[in-house]
Amino acid sequence: MIVGVLALQGAVREHMQMIARVGATPLAVKTRDELKKTDALILPGGESTTIGKLMTEFNLKDEIIRRAKEGMPVWGTCAGMILLAKHIVNQENTHLDLMDIWVRRNAYGSQLDSFITSQEVPEVSDGTVPMVFIRAPYVEKVGPDVKILSEIGGKVVAARQGNLLATAFHPELTEDLSFHKYFLRIIEDKSSACEA
Ligand code: GLN
Repeated sequence: MIVGVLALQGAVREHMQMIARVGATPLAVKTRDELKKTDALILPGGESTTIGKLMTEFNLKDEIIRRAKEGMPVWGTCAGMILLAKHIVNQENTHLDLMDIWVRRNAYGSQLDSFITSQEVPEVSDGTVPMVFIRAPYVEKVGPDVKILSEIGGKVVAARQGNLLATAFHPELTEDLSFHKYFLRIIEDKSSACEA
């Protein structure tokens, strides 16, 4: 199973290492040819405006949208969650416009307000999941097809809509593999649904 990590900017290497640790093959994706080889795609954290512009410049944006609409599993962490959103409450334009979530950028304040916490996410893990927030967004509202996986203080920080997964925090910056394993389960379920 090949899991692509969009490698234009941001926390790429950390996701690639986690993907290898959970037993799949990571592939850095910068071109359409590389994107064709992947079974799934991770949109890493970084700076969403920059990654959004680069996705267009590298001619990847339309192809990511097309593959995601066809059912390719896509997981956005932090800036990646902003890229997935259909609605960004404190900004006019959106990027991939795929997931029915209302995201607020830099929702916890400035860089100094970055923080670490942990909590149970029953759908994803039997234990508690450490969560690293770095100038993180949160989700203020979700559409009817979106399943909330985790909330902090009434704000959604992890959610899933079919083949789309979004986390406001960075599992790749911890030692906890549970979200990467969960993403592999989504990919496996998707492939078996295609075979059936
Ligand atoms: N603040 C960044 C943005 O709005 C996201 C931060 C991150 O990915 N760690 O794009």
